[in-house]
Amino acid sequence: MAQEDAPDGKAATQPVFRFAPSPNGYLHLGHAFSALLNLKLAKAHHARMLLRIEDIDPERSRRHFETALMEDLNWLGFHWDEPPRRQSEHLADYASALEGLVERGLAYPCFCSRSDIARACAAKTDWPRDPDGAFLYPGVCRALSPSERGARMASGARFSLRLDMAKAVAAIRGPLTYREFHEGEDGLAVIAAPEPWGDVLIGRRDVPASYHIACVLDDAAQGVTDIVRGADLEAATGLHRLLQALLGLQTPNYRHHRLVTDAEGCKLSKSKSSPCLRDLRARGASPAGIRAELGRLMNVEF
Ligand code: GLU
Repeated sequence: MAQEDAPDGKAATQPVFRFAPSPNGYLHLGHAFSALLNLKLAKAHHARMLLRIEDIDPERSRRHFETALMEDLNWLGFHWDEPPRRQSEHLADYASALEGLVERGLAYPCFCSRSDIARACAAKTDWPRDPDGAFLYPGVCRALSPSERGARMASGARFSLRLDMAKAVAAIRGPLTYREFHEGEDGLAVIAAPEPWGDVLIGRRDVPASYHIACVLDDAAQGVTDIVRGADLEAATGLHRLLQALLGLQTPNYRHHRLVTDAEGCKLSKSKSSPCLRDLRARGASPAGIRAELGRLMNVEF
């Protein structure tokens, strides 16, 4: 795609959009809407359009879903400008960023299993939860002494890595903001709110990464300038903005769009009644028909 020139004659930086599905199921209409909206806006801004495969979850990611999602996107008319980036091929980059946060005292190893945490928190009335609905980490391993941490690690105990939210927020000077567009043309400066995530998990037990760390590192590595994604990820943006600040990464513009829901108002990925794109195709749906239907539902012209 051609580089646009700024009015003063200097070469302007070409914007970069990305669509970043996780290959843990077939794409449904909600994914189709997000992909088509990305493409529409990328075209309007003469931007590059990238595809990123978010496949760091070894329990759920499958190669056949990756192949299927690329087929479905091609069929839909969503095209990307360079070979897709696969997150599973960049684990060393995520590990080294995590290590840096640990060295700076901003992250710590946590030896608690999910069930340890659930047991401890469920026993207390109304234990607070993070924006994804998980119990806020009660901080057990934050209090471990360096020698105890070392001993547990030396014994081969498995651990995840957690951000020390209080220290991380204190390490940043002043409030953090980012530009949010929602459905409009004019962006608004939004104050990032990472605190509701508490000591969030940023490195899993099974892979040296998490959605949050991989997402911000990849957006920066790919030079992404504009992130268009569902409103279900809006709360995560406060945390992403904090990670960007801690890691010295640039901050893209954000546009969190409404989610496509079924007749009962349920998010499609969670809805049993919502068919995936390949079922719709098998039943004779056309890409033009899907674009028209989504456009009508979401009030966007595709
Ligand atoms: N991989 C995420 C998903 O499929 C999207 C992440 C993002 O756009 O930041 O829900």
